[in-house]
Amino acid sequence: MNKEVSGKVNIFWFRQDLRLEDNPALQAALKTKLPLIPLYIWDPEGEGEWLPGGASRWWLHRSLESLHLELVKRGSALVLQEGNSEKVFLEILSRYPVQGIYWNHRYEPLILNRDKKLKIKLESRGIRVESFHGSLLFPPDSVLKEEGTSYKVFTPFWKRCLRQTIHERTSGSPSLFPPVPSKAISLPLEKLKLNPAVAWDTGLKKTWQPGSLQALAQLERFLKEGLSRYPEARDRPDQEGTSRLSPYLHFGEISPLRIWNACRRAELTTSQPGIIRGSETFLRELGWREFGYHLLIHFPHTPQSPLREEFNRFPWRTDIRPLDAWQQGQTGYPIIDAGMRQLWQTGWMHNRVRMIVASFLVKDLLHSWQEGSKWFWEALVDADLANNTLGWQWAGGCGADAAPFFRIFNPILQGEKFDSLGTYVKTFCPELRELPTQYIHHPWLAPDPILKSAGITLGKNYPSPIIDHSLARTRALQSFAMIKK
Ligand SMILES: Cc1cc2nc3c(=O)[nH]c(=O)nc-3n(C[C@H](O)[C@H](O)[C@H](O)COP(=O)(O)OP(=O)(O)OC[C@H]3O[C@@H](n4cnc5c(N)ncnc54)[C@H](O)[C@@H]3O)c2cc1C
Repeated sequence: MNKEVSGKVNIFWFRQDLRLEDNPALQAALKTKLPLIPLYIWDPEGEGEWLPGGASRWWLHRSLESLHLELVKRGSALVLQEGNSEKVFLEILSRYPVQGIYWNHRYEPLILNRDKKLKIKLESRGIRVESFHGSLLFPPDSVLKEEGTSYKVFTPFWKRCLRQTIHERTSGSPSLFPPVPSKAISLPLEKLKLNPAVAWDTGLKKTWQPGSLQALAQLERFLKEGLSRYPEARDRPDQEGTSRLSPYLHFGEISPLRIWNACRRAELTTSQPGIIRGSETFLRELGWREFGYHLLIHFPHTPQSPLREEFNRFPWRTDIRPLDAWQQGQTGYPIIDAGMRQLWQTGWMHNRVRMIVASFLVKDLLHSWQEGSKWFWEALVDADLANNTLGWQWAGGCGADAAPFFRIFNPILQGEKFDSLGTYVKTFCPELRELPTQYIHHPWLAPDPILKSAGITLGKNYPSPIIDHSLARTRALQSFAMIKK
């Protein structure tokens, strides 16, 4: 960057709010009418041990590309920088007469701390720093029990949320931006090296189109085709029953408030039967996202450690082979394998299947939920510290409002219940396609001639089960009894 600017400028710092619409900090920056540097800093060190994984970096690359195009259409451009965020700001401050810096909060413990310190440092240099809540429906400190403490159970938390006022309007996307100061040089996007070095992303490319315009299109599609049947279809991995908005929400390409208001509007204006019930069930799921952030803020140690401390004593196993089989989708349990392959191929997995595979890792294989959470972190396009921690501690029985440890999912029954025709399994485990439906969730029970005519040789082109579920269940309960003593 170059010293050419004489009048004051502002900086808008894009983070996990990669959108122009309903972006409170951006709106505040634009109100000043000063020239604006729309900045994104790729700061791997700042993310600590939760550096976005491969699939998230893939998404981020495309999301930044799309945001840049949106800005260009409005007479601006995205300025990309790399490195320690504080150093990047100091460098910019040495070149530009900066008046104000604007950003929306992130709530990951390390980032929250860094931002607090950064704000103090910048303010001590006479810069006006304004930060806003842009990625949650309810500012995290606003939802507390009467006595001022945090919640650990979802239902009362959500009831309390619903008593709060929610803005009924979201601000639209600004049509014109002030100019970017001349010579504000951006690094080329490729320089950030977010794209995979080895091309493993064919499935991601086929499945997703990151960016805020796509997020809005996805929301519209879901409102029209999915909302009214959401309460029933949301548990069916063999159907397009959920919104698939999670990566867009994680990167802030759409705000939860935008979704909230669109659902409320649909309730009032759509005559389709089931819309009100669908909308309530769906918004409650957004409520789980709020709950995840509530827990992350009040219990910042939970991405690494269980909320229920007795689980620190759990005798987790560390044998590599079962973990490998789980990661590769080679456990011999079709619903588990389909889920893990869906994750690897598309960067996403259906929520019901996330619960089943997580239970299998933690309870059948006795591998720690932290191992599972790390694998998801690397492979999910929607990897989100709050939601991933919540999901894994829920499945592991060690978190807030978690499934009790002794409730152990049976992967065969879960498969039969939620993928009754085996459509989901056959999509991601093509070697099982010819197997009759009655055996699809337990191929090892199929008679030899049936396996033969389906082209399956167990142990060769599809694995035999790596563990007997009923023995695994007994072993899990024995291990659990040890930590209860
Ligand atoms: C072990 C495990 C790990 C998970 N890891 C993540 C993660 O890293 N990132 C992530 O966004 N979600 C995670 N989830 C929650 C959930 O599986 C996904 O949010 C959901 O599958 C995303 O698909 P969707 O957008 O179609 O969901 P929809 O059913 O359409 O729900 C709409 C939105 O509500 C939120 N939501 C839905 N269910 C949950 C939930 N159980 N907890 C928190 N928020 C929820 C999400 O933001 C989602 O996009 C995890 C769940 C489990 C069991």
